[in-house]
Amino acid sequence: MTHAIYPGSFDPITLGHVNIIERALNIFEELTVLIAVNSEKKRLFAVEENEELIRTVTHQWPQVTVDHTAGLLVDYCRERGIRNAVRGLRAVTDFDAEFSMALTHRNLWCEFDTIYLMTSAEYMYLHSSIVRQVARMGGDVSKFVPASVEQALTTKFAKA
Ligand code: ADP
Repeated sequence: MTHAIYPGSFDPITLGHVNIIERALNIFEELTVLIAVNSEKKRLFAVEENEELIRTVTHQWPQVTVDHTAGLLVDYCRERGIRNAVRGLRAVTDFDAEFSMALTHRNLWCEFDTIYLMTSAEYMYLHSSIVRQVARMGGDVSKFVPASVEQALTTKFAKA
């Protein structure tokens, strides 16, 4: 196992995501954090802003690259010969959606597998949407996100 993809919205990257990245790096030699661009979803940060935040947060790991795609995950991976995705599991509520997503990917490309990593207990209830909500109301998000993301959120909502 050499290169895996870690797909998601990452709007913005949280300490829960970082926890999964660290765990994935114990298994894979290279990891691409891939922002899946969904035009139906309204984002807080532009894709490029989120990419830059992920690069800042992961700069200590040269094995991590950051990219985005508006296409199918399996197409992105097949073109690059990447056969594994990594996803994080929080509570059981994640399971249903993840199960159908993993099976859909495998239906589209039978050689593709998704590896699930359990989050640390302290991040079990941490979602990017919660971070956006707390930050929007002026709450303290320092327990949820890296300092650079906290700064970006402060700037974003100061402008709003
Ligand atoms: P969200 O917007 O819900 O935070 P993303 O689409 O950005 O989710 O998530 C990308 C991947 O990271 C998914 O596999 C998701 O389950 C995982 N993830 C998100 N937050 C956490 C967390 N706190 N702990 C573990 N995995 C997480």
